[in-house]
Amino acid sequence: MKILLASLCVISLLVILPSVFTASSSSEDFDFFYFVQQWPGSYCDTQKKCCYPTSGKPAADFGIHGLWPNYKDGTYPSNCDDTKPFDKSTISDLITSMKKSWPTLACPSGSGDAFWEHEWEKHGTCSESVIDQHEYFQTALNLKQKTDLLGALTKAGINPDGNSYSLESIRDSIKESTGFTPWVECNRDESGNSQLYQVYLCVDRSGSGLIECPVFPHGKCGDEIEFPSF
Ligand code: 5GP
Ligand code: 5GP
Repeated sequence: MKILLASLCVISLLVILPSVFTASSSSEDFDFFYFVQQWPGSYCDTQKKCCYPTSGKPAADFGIHGLWPNYKDGTYPSNCDDTKPFDKSTISDLITSMKKSWPTLACPSGSGDAFWEHEWEKHGTCSESVIDQHEYFQTALNLKQKTDLLGALTKAGINPDGNSYSLESIRDSIKESTGFTPWVECNRDESGNSQLYQVYLCVDRSGSGLIECPVFPHGKCGDEIEFPSF
């Protein structure tokens, strides 16, 4: 009897174990997130211009651009599930915070819905195996609070005053304050000067905390970059 039971156990383990491994490996569909924040002054003073959201001019602070699942080799998945459209009713408790922390600056003016929908459908659907739609937006809002980029910069005497600052001092002050090395993306103002546009920080797969970036995006700022006002 004992032998029979033992062999039944072995057989069921042999049947169950492979399916467990298959399930976990098929949900490993990205390695980490980029959490990307944009400086509104640098979105707005380019040749493209910007439009304030219908709720009015956002605060002079970094705003969320997105939380982007990525692979360690630098590539990334996008638009992973068109059966899970953006559903505002699942995040109704977050809308007030999203209007403040994730304002849209694209033209024509909008409430933010189109921007959030785009970010969810392009990026959020690719992290569904780990966080659902509510958790996706909540995670981004928490990260925004936790990282306080403007606080990190101003504490180091780097202010959005139209002056130029060294890229190194910008990077160092964010590292000093968050504990992790950021990646800085620049764009050009109307007269062609390189300026601080977006800051990337990396987040672990579960969205629970910052990590050192496994890989940085491509692109280069000058050694000295402008920090425009907004
Ligand atoms: P751009 O070409 O302006 O740098 O990026 C356009 C869009 O492509 C971004 O807003 C974002 O949606 C996506 N994208 C660009 N680079 C990356 C990246 O390194 N990782 C991920 N996940 N998305 C990116
Ligand atoms: P991504 O570059 O993330 O693929 O796409 C950003 C999309 O969201 C673009 O279609 C852009 O027009 C729209 N969008 C709306 N508001 C904003 C904003 O404030 N910043 C950026 N970067 N894109 C925005």
